[in-house]
Amino acid sequence: MVKIFVDRKKRLPVFLALIMTFLFVILGLILVTAKFKNGFKIKDCVKEIGTAQMLTAQKKGVTYKIKFPYFNYKDVDSIIHEKIYSEIEDFIKENANRDVKKAKPKKAVILSDFQTFAFNNNCGVSVQMQYLKNMSGKKVSKTVNLVFCYGKLLSFKDIFKQDKIQDLVNAIKSEIKLDKRFRFMLKNRPFSIYNALTDDVSNLENFGIEKDNIIFSFDLSKIFKEKQEFITVSVPKSAIVECFSNVYFNSNPNERVSGEKTSNDTPLEKDERADKPLIALTFDDGPKEGVTDIILDELKKNNAHATFFVVGKSAEQFPDLLKREVAEGHEIGNHTYSHPTTLTHLSSTDIEQQIENNAKIIESVIGSRPAIVRVPGGSANKKVISAIEAYPIIHWSVDTRDWQTHSAPATKREVNQSSGDGDIVLMHDIRPSTAEAIKTIIPELKSKGFELVTVSEMFRLKNINLEKGVVYHKAEIKECEEESA
Ligand code: ZN
Repeated sequence: MVKIFVDRKKRLPVFLALIMTFLFVILGLILVTAKFKNGFKIKDCVKEIGTAQMLTAQKKGVTYKIKFPYFNYKDVDSIIHEKIYSEIEDFIKENANRDVKKAKPKKAVILSDFQTFAFNNNCGVSVQMQYLKNMSGKKVSKTVNLVFCYGKLLSFKDIFKQDKIQDLVNAIKSEIKLDKRFRFMLKNRPFSIYNALTDDVSNLENFGIEKDNIIFSFDLSKIFKEKQEFITVSVPKSAIVECFSNVYFNSNPNERVSGEKTSNDTPLEKDERADKPLIALTFDDGPKEGVTDIILDELKKNNAHATFFVVGKSAEQFPDLLKREVAEGHEIGNHTYSHPTTLTHLSSTDIEQQIENNAKIIESVIGSRPAIVRVPGGSANKKVISAIEAYPIIHWSVDTRDWQTHSAPATKREVNQSSGDGDIVLMHDIRPSTAEAIKTIIPELKSKGFELVTVSEMFRLKNINLEKGVVYHKAEIKECEEESA
């Protein structure tokens, strides 16, 4: 029999060690559980206007899952996009700067949810973006309010009278005093937000408009130099009626006020094509005389546009076809200089050379460099992606296998059966069978109501930013599904 001997003097440390182990196990379990709770949701989340959309991707060790509003109004949507991407970029930078030795591997996630409120008879919208950043378990949340009216991003001075700022600050302070959440803060902080709030407008710029209240979000790190934490104070509109400038907004949410309207009375311009189903036809490996020119004829006949992923060697051989592609409104993509079967076996320098040499040739012919890259065979491992990180990498969602079947009917069948809204269709403009197939593919897609656009145009119309160093298969906006923490 084995007897476990424990010296009396050592019993206490052993006991402590057991307790510690137990605590570590519990802590471990909590962390493992937390790992699966990425989603979060604003409490009583209001979405009065716009549709919810989701952007998810991984970039440079950072996972982002951004739920954001989409209004299908270019001016507003592009500003929201800009703000979202600068938030993501900041987080990527922060993640890259962290001490690699200390950092626990991998976990860097940025999530968002949002609320929207309409005002000024639906000509205005107030967006509240709520971000949650989690870097190796260190969580930081951030609130960003954006207020638009007639497509213009409004600032503090567009809404509030400059000579009433002190009244406004006093109203905010009264709310802070009444709010239970701030009791602790008022009592215990050496400089409470109550005292720190002055008529400094830079602290008041992060405001939003709700039905009955104006909300102000304060970044405590800006006021107290503490860790980033946002608090939001609601002030009833009725308490600050005198402070509104009444240009874009007054205290009655449905009474329309003038502001700077666009020429017609509809608040903003809408791109009609964005409502139609879109397809991006793409042609690789050309240009080639006797094939590319037939495809160009067919596209022109049907008022359709496509993307040509050209090979440098062929571009050198047929510069006039390349020029014609551009002149007729098509997009040029980079498909390497000499088209190696795969880039995965090349060194990073050779991969860069393949892309760079082709970009130079294309630039010398058409005067500009391609903004997108397609890799031969669609094989992109980590090395390939990091060598091409200056470009969005475009794969495809529909492979016609024209390169394999050499058959016009088979190519046509593949497009007919598999293509839908947002798809990127892979074909090759070096196959006569493909040029033959195109003669029926294009009119049939048009008759089904599809708009045939270039890759970049399709992403723009679908309000998806093509990001450098990210691989895309189709222009897909995932409908937002509700998540809870
Ligand atoms: Zn190819």
